[in-house]
Amino acid sequence: MSDKYDVIVIGSGPAGYVAAIRAAQLGLKTACIEKWKDDKGKGINGGTCLNVGCIPSKALLDSSHKYHEAKDSYSAHGISTGKMSIDVPAMIARKDKVVKQMSGGITGLFQANKVTPLYGTGKLLKGRKVELTDNEGKQQILEAENVILASGSIPVNIPVAPVDNDVIVDSTGALEFTEVPKRLGVIGAGVIGLELGSVWGRLGSKVVCLEAMDDFLAIMDQQIAKETQKILTKQGLDIRLGCRVTGSKVNGKEVEVTYTDKAGKEQKETFDKLIVCVGRRPFTEGLLAPDSGVNLDERGCIYVNDLCSTNAPGVWAIGDVVRGPMLAHKGSEEGVVVAERIAGQKPLVNYDIIPNVIYIQPEVASVGRTEEQVKADGEEYSVGTFPFLAIGRAVATGDADGMVKIIADAKTDRVLGCHIVGPNASDLVQQVAIAMEFGATAEDLGMTVFGHPTFSEAVKEAALAVNGHAIHMPNKKKRK
Ligand code: FAD
Ligand code: NAD
Repeated sequence: MSDKYDVIVIGSGPAGYVAAIRAAQLGLKTACIEKWKDDKGKGINGGTCLNVGCIPSKALLDSSHKYHEAKDSYSAHGISTGKMSIDVPAMIARKDKVVKQMSGGITGLFQANKVTPLYGTGKLLKGRKVELTDNEGKQQILEAENVILASGSIPVNIPVAPVDNDVIVDSTGALEFTEVPKRLGVIGAGVIGLELGSVWGRLGSKVVCLEAMDDFLAIMDQQIAKETQKILTKQGLDIRLGCRVTGSKVNGKEVEVTYTDKAGKEQKETFDKLIVCVGRRPFTEGLLAPDSGVNLDERGCIYVNDLCSTNAPGVWAIGDVVRGPMLAHKGSEEGVVVAERIAGQKPLVNYDIIPNVIYIQPEVASVGRTEEQVKADGEEYSVGTFPFLAIGRAVATGDADGMVKIIADAKTDRVLGCHIVGPNASDLVQQVAIAMEFGATAEDLGMTVFGHPTFSEAVKEAALAVNGHAIHMPNKKKRK
């Protein structure tokens, strides 16, 4: 087989592997290069998402949720469990099995779609040539009509708390604890901090989150963020806002963290483990030859236009390594669109409708614009909210914390955004995302028949509430 391809993808995370599969489906001769390998040096597909991100974190979130429910909620249903215990190594082994199954699935999909997997490090040279250094160090030059860069992202490090992969860890280390830390510190109360803080908190850790910003989940709709903060605090998560970490000192098996609190006072706290999760940054180390023609932007992302095209002709970039939210599904969508554009089609990614979920309990999910963003854009809008406390299904299951909030254009009634904290929020928000894709109004959503009793009735009622028509709650607006 010649070493000339129609498409070479560098990186097999959810952006890269999806692009490779779609390109191959469209009849393009495609290879996907991946440098991730296991302890034995065997190449593994799936990137951050499958190996140390979305999938393993959700496996641990589900295990810890089951434990927490059995321990603290079953008795209300008349179920006694006796004394409960958690076998952490067994929980981690299950997570590893899930990861192996999922990343093996990608390799199977490559085979089924005739994508050539190549294991090693890819470097883009001038003129759409790619230097592949395999896992034994052997080099070869490949050529392609089109190259798709999908090299992903890595955790941001901060000098005041350097990761030692023992006491101070990043998100990857926090998926591998061998026992439940008694005192767990988390720097950064963002998505990872809340998800992984919840995992270990449910299993018994006393969790303290030190967050630099004064507002909790500052980029989210603030009404939903405040409701979420209240629920998490009730669950026992100690969230300290406006904190500036100034140093950390590891003493054997513990770490002392010094920080300045919101009032400007010096504080000290000692933890058995400390997770640093203050964001991720685009990863391009070793990816680009100096004359590759690909530019980076001021944040270190590969610079692309709206169509994911870089400055170099025939070179595209997708996923976490380019601008936009660092979400698996955003990168996958870009992968499909780029593959189809290479094949001559004209699709676009709808960046306005990308759902975002935090997989804590209850889940937090959003799509579209927040109330703060709509206000800042100077648009007139109406808001409908509905609490899960008034939803029969939520009361029956004992998951009645939270609410649905829908924002609609005041003149056209078109849905501009939906923000949820509550049971199954990840699936509920998708219903609104579909409605928004079809240009639905709040009235359209409110007139749709929803099954009863379901959690999704909160979506219908919040949509009705936009125009003062909610049935199972007094309306703030006058009914017309
Ligand atoms: P990556 O998944 O990072 O993949 C990039 C791949 O490229 C890697 O495998 C890397 O080894 C490879 N690579 C890099 N350079 C080279 C090179 N030169 N040669 C060959 N290979 C190379 N997102 C969600 O949407 N939902 C979630 O629930 C979620 N949970 C997360 C939980 C955690 C703990 C973390 C850390 C992240 C989570 N994310 C989640 C974010 C999600 O994982 C990323 O947005 C996603 O993986 C980005 O996909 P990508 O393909 O762009 O990059
Ligand atoms: P994040 O941006 O969600 O949160 C980082 C938090 O750390 C922010 O609140 C920030 O204000 C704070 N922070 C920054 N510097 C700090 C400092 N020095 N001291 C204290 N606080 C500080 O980032 P993350 O949680 O690390 O996650 C990284 C990326 O991974 C996110 O962009 C997210 O999109 C993605 N991710 C997604 C999911 C999901 O979709 N469920 C889950 C995990 C990760």
